[in-house]
Amino acid sequence: MAHPEYVLFFDNHTMQACPDVGHKFDAELFADSVKEIGAELVGFPAKCNQGFCYYDTKIGIRHPSMKPGHDYFGDLVAACRKRDIKVTAYLNCGLSNEDGVRHPDWCQIGKNGEFFHSEVMHSMITPYARIMCINSPYRQYILSLIKEVKEKYPVSGFLLDSFNAFPCYCRHCVEGMRKLGMDPENDKDAEEYAILSAKSLAQEISDIVQPRKDDLLMYCLGLSARDNLKYGSYLECECLPTYPNWGYDALPLRSRYLRTVAKDEPVFNMTGRFYAWGDFGSLRTAAAVEYDLFLGRANGMRPNIGDHIHPSGLYHRGIVDRLKEIYATVKQYDPWYRDAANPVDMAILFSGGLATNSMKMAVRMLSELKMQFDCVDPLNDWSKYKVLVLPDDILLTDELQAKIAEFLKSGGKILATGESGLDPEKKQFCFEKEWGVKFRKEKTFNPAYFSMTGDYKDLIPALPLSVYSDCVETEALPGTIVAGNIVAPYYDHKWDGVYSYFYTPPNGVTDLPFVTFTDQVAYCSGKLFDGYNTAASVELRDICKAMIGHLFADPMLKIESGLPSFGRAIVSEQPGRLMVHLLNYLPEKRGEMLIVEEALDAFNVKIKLRLDGKAVKRVYLAPNGEEIPFEQNDDHVTFTVPSICGYGLAVAEY
Ligand SMILES: [Zn+2]
Repeated sequence: MAHPEYVLFFDNHTMQACPDVGHKFDAELFADSVKEIGAELVGFPAKCNQGFCYYDTKIGIRHPSMKPGHDYFGDLVAACRKRDIKVTAYLNCGLSNEDGVRHPDWCQIGKNGEFFHSEVMHSMITPYARIMCINSPYRQYILSLIKEVKEKYPVSGFLLDSFNAFPCYCRHCVEGMRKLGMDPENDKDAEEYAILSAKSLAQEISDIVQPRKDDLLMYCLGLSARDNLKYGSYLECECLPTYPNWGYDALPLRSRYLRTVAKDEPVFNMTGRFYAWGDFGSLRTAAAVEYDLFLGRANGMRPNIGDHIHPSGLYHRGIVDRLKEIYATVKQYDPWYRDAANPVDMAILFSGGLATNSMKMAVRMLSELKMQFDCVDPLNDWSKYKVLVLPDDILLTDELQAKIAEFLKSGGKILATGESGLDPEKKQFCFEKEWGVKFRKEKTFNPAYFSMTGDYKDLIPALPLSVYSDCVETEALPGTIVAGNIVAPYYDHKWDGVYSYFYTPPNGVTDLPFVTFTDQVAYCSGKLFDGYNTAASVELRDICKAMIGHLFADPMLKIESGLPSFGRAIVSEQPGRLMVHLLNYLPEKRGEMLIVEEALDAFNVKIKLRLDGKAVKRVYLAPNGEEIPFEQNDDHVTFTVPSICGYGLAVAEY
C-alpha cells in the first residue's frame, strides 16, 4: 500500500442520550470536505468508547438513535473510497461503557474486589467510568467485531484504542494468573499479567487483521512502539501539546525516539485541532497546529490531525477551512520531506517507556542548544553516536553495563548527570575509572549550590548558584579535571523541633566535585536536568553546553545568531541535500492553557553546518527556491537566512 501522508482522525464517542446520531450526515459532502482539506486517510470509529457501533453490525450494539438501516461508517467508507481516500476503522478495545452496563461481569475488578475505577480519574465523569476486562468473554466479543468490520468493509486498517494494561482481579484474571504460576496477591505479578494479556489480545487481533500480509495499517494505542511493530504495521504518536499529560516537551522526545524504532513503517504525528479529546468547542490557531506538524515533519513524521465531527453528522465549515489552510501550508514542503533522514551527533538514553522530567528536560536543553540528537532505549544500536547522554537517574543494569562497555571501548563519549552510571543498588559507579569519580553517597546538601573553577570560572556569573535538585556526593579520582565544586549551605532546609530552617544561603565552597571531565566522560554530580525542570536556570544549560564542548568540539549545526533559545533547528537529509528546518514559535502559558497564537518572525539567522566531506553547490530556501549566498571552508558551509515567519527550510545541495 502506498502509505498516506496526510491524515484526519475523528475521535467520536457518543453518549447513549444523544438523540440524533448521524441524522444530518451526508457522506458525499463529508468526503468532499476531506478531499478539500487534503487528507488521504481518515480514521473513523466503527465502535466508540461508549460501546456503540456506527456500522451495520449483527454482533455489536448500534447507537440507539441512529436511524434504522443507516450504515454511518459504511456510507463514509464508500464515499471516501470513491474519492481515493483511505479509511481506517477505530475500535476501542479497553473501554466500552454500554457493554459494561449490560455485562457487569465483563468489567475489570480492582484489588479490593469492587469494580475497578482508575485512580488517575478523579471523578466518575470520565470515559474510564467502566473498564473492560480483556480476559472476560468481552475478548471474544471485541475480536468478533474487528473480524466483522474487516470482512464487511474495504478498510485500510485499524486503530485500536485503550490497551491500558491495568491489573485486574476478576475471576478470569485470577484464574489466568494461577494457571501461569503467578501470585494474584503479588502486585508485580498482577501488573505483568495485565501486560501479557494486552499483548496476547494484540496478537489475536493481529492474527485476524494480518496487517503485514494484507497490507493494512494497524496500531494499538497503549502498547509500546516496539510491541506495535511486532503486532501492527505502523507507529502513531498521540500527543496533544495542550493536554497536561503531554505538554510541549513530549513531541520533541517521542519524534526523536520513534524515528529510531521504525524501519520503513510510517510514523503519524497525531495532534489535535482542539485543546483536549472531548473538547467540542475549540479550534486551535493555524500557527499552533502548524508548529506541531512542522516539528513532526522535520523529524520524519506524517501529519495526523485529531478532530471531532458533530454527532448529528454535521462537519462544520469552520473546521474544514482551518484544516485546509494548515495542510496547504505544510504541503508546500513535501518534496523536501519524503524519505528524509535525520543525521545526528548524539543520543539521549531513556527506558523507552514513560518519560521522566529529567528526560524531557534533556531533550529541551539539547534542543535549545540546537544539537542534533536521537532519543534511544537500551535496544537501539548506539554505534553511530559520538556522545551518549545519561540524564540524572540512569542506573546501569547488567544489560546496560555491557552496552556502555562496548560503547566506551569503541571510543564513544558520555555525558552523565546525578545518579547516572551507578549500579542498580547505588553502591558504586560501574565505570569508576572512565567516570573519573568515586561514589560516596546518594545526596549531599539541601539545597546544594555550585561554583565553577579553573578554566571554567567565568562560565557563570560570580556567585554561587542553586542546583535546584539533588547532588550525588563523589570524590574526584587522580587525573580527573574538576571544573566546578559544590557549595554548601549554612544549614539544610529542615525543621529541628524548635526552628524552621527556611533561609539557607550558601556558605563555603567544598572540595566535592560538581562538574568533572575525563577523556571520555563529562560528569555533573547534580541532577542538572531535574534542576532545569524546577527552575529553568539558564546557567544549568551553560554547564551542559560546556560538558558537550569538552566531549566534542564541532557539533553538526551551529546557529550563530538570529534564532532565540525557544527557536528550534533540525537537520535532515535526502540524497544530494542537507536541510535545516528552522522553527520560531513560542508556546505561552496563558491562564491555565498552553497556547501558540502566532508564528514569530526571525531575521538574519546565521547558520554554520558541518559537511562531513560534502561539497555544497547551492543553498536556497524551500519552497520558492530563493538563492542564498554561502561560503564553504574547513568542511563547513555558512550562510544567513534573511527571514522566516514561524517556519523556514534552508536547503544546501551538494
Ligand atoms: Zn479481569
